[in-house]
Amino acid sequence: MAKVYDQAYMGGRVVPIQEANVSVASSAVLYGLSVYTVLPIVPGTDGLRAFRVQDHLARLINSARIIGMDIDLSEEAFLGALRMTVEANDISDSTFARCTIHVTELVPGVRSRGLKTDFSIFLYEASCILPKEGARLKTSVWRRVPDYAIPSRAKVNGAYVNSVLARQDAIDSGYDDAIFLDVSGHVCELSAANIFLVRNGALHTPNQASDILEGISRSTLIELARDMDIEVQERSIDLTELYVADEVFACGTSAYLTPVLEIDKRQINEGKAGAITKRLQTKYEEVLRGEDKAYEAYLTQL
Ligand code: PMP
Repeated sequence: MAKVYDQAYMGGRVVPIQEANVSVASSAVLYGLSVYTVLPIVPGTDGLRAFRVQDHLARLINSARIIGMDIDLSEEAFLGALRMTVEANDISDSTFARCTIHVTELVPGVRSRGLKTDFSIFLYEASCILPKEGARLKTSVWRRVPDYAIPSRAKVNGAYVNSVLARQDAIDSGYDDAIFLDVSGHVCELSAANIFLVRNGALHTPNQASDILEGISRSTLIELARDMDIEVQERSIDLTELYVADEVFACGTSAYLTPVLEIDKRQINEGKAGAITKRLQTKYEEVLRGEDKAYEAYLTQL
């Protein structure tokens, strides 16, 4: 389990994490009616910085809009809360900030509009959810919930039961994580990371209409690859394309960029991280740490 920092933001102020609670009678608990994002906080030469904060906030607000929650969260308020939380804790290493809007109304029934909400932030130690050296994946017996049932592009707590089922099934079968397919058998993503394959020097990844979460790391990697003159195609992908790919990797805030070395007992690139994967991994980690000046605009000083 990751270490959780002991000061959290809730109800407009910083409180001990034990006091940052929502009621058992709230929609957040009853129906998983909360939307969230997890963003990286990285130490720089002159203090802590947050990665792609505006994009995380935009996705959070869009998630709330899809669900039909009424929220009013400005960038100023969001950053202010993040700074208060960071300052209240003693942070020197890379950290993840989980920022959530909860529907806190008590027993309103199954609806979303016009209900009370609250915003929370807590920080926890940044660690990779996949083995750093490379992951072994299994096709999930559970299909990705389609956009017409529970929208994947909305990061809603309740929807993560789907991810829990898939990852637990993979772990029970001796794998590190699952590959979700959509209802017609096309590749979506992992339980909490997006997926790319490399074939003939080009990157391919499921497009935004493939029932995926629109990952911020995914969009960063598409940009980095194009800037490195690597072709990127966003399209519908068959499972067997992964089996015959030259390289496969997963990406996400908590998955960083992790090579995929085996899928359903088939080795990828003879079980070794590929050259394009390694180049992108090095670049992505430099950008995240603010070591590449060309992408400094992605980092906000806290
Ligand atoms: N897909 C799912 C289902 C996820 O939960 C995550 C993690 N947020 C991702 C992809 C990767 O998104 P990001 O790069 O924004 O962390």
